[in-house]
Amino acid sequence: MLKPALLRICLIAVVLGTVVASAAPPVIPVENGSVAQAYKIIASKRFVDLTHSFSPVTPVWKGFGQATFSGAADPQTGKPYTIAKDGFRASFYSMVGQYGTHIDAPAHFDPNGMTVDEIPLKQMILPLVVFDMTSMLEKDPNHALTIADIKEWERRHGRVPAGCFAALRTDMSRDWKTNPERFKRYPFPGWSFEAIKFLYEQRGIAANGHESMDTDISKTMDSEKWLLTHGHWQIEAMAHLDDVPATGALVVVAWPKPQRGVGFPARVFAILP
Ligand SMILES: [Zn+2]
Repeated sequence: MLKPALLRICLIAVVLGTVVASAAPPVIPVENGSVAQAYKIIASKRFVDLTHSFSPVTPVWKGFGQATFSGAADPQTGKPYTIAKDGFRASFYSMVGQYGTHIDAPAHFDPNGMTVDEIPLKQMILPLVVFDMTSMLEKDPNHALTIADIKEWERRHGRVPAGCFAALRTDMSRDWKTNPERFKRYPFPGWSFEAIKFLYEQRGIAANGHESMDTDISKTMDSEKWLLTHGHWQIEAMAHLDDVPATGALVVVAWPKPQRGVGFPARVFAILP
């Protein structure tokens, strides 16, 4: 146990230490219109992760098959690196690019389309609008969003802004972890071809995203084929759109940069208003 006098000295030292530490760095002024000011605003907001964790057991289209994860091994010995033996470890992932929450680049369907490494950086942070279709699903569990639904949304929230990322909320992402078989169901709620065409052509959206693994509720993949062959990209298997408002948020969409890659797991999150 410390004697009272010694305890007092210790406390004074702690207080002095705090004063010295906090007095040290000069405050950099934050100018109006600067990225420093934008960062200060952004850092004060709530962030929502719109990405599922993926693993060898999470849903994937049956035509691709499940991922395998293993420890990366020394090619000379075939033995996986371990922290105990080698001081480090690394993972070896084997999976299709269209795995988990992922980006579909135009080149996924278009032989001359943009690849994931060519999509402009400025499209990786966009205003986010969310069409909440959940109330329509009580009557029609496999509803496809129509132009009329979008116009009804615009009566309440204003015109869909050009250059935004348009996301479709269906809440089917809730099945991702708890009921992966149900998550992979067909039919499922999605976009109509007319709605996708309208959003890109009449509203000038930059990209679209949804909770399902496919864009279309039709087996002919009309919407997906059209958007990818017209230079647009999309995010599939999004999560937590139930935690994001209809307008006013930003979405950040990032992915690795494989050369000439046509799809890859993505990290997607929203910055709330
Ligand atoms: Zn896809």
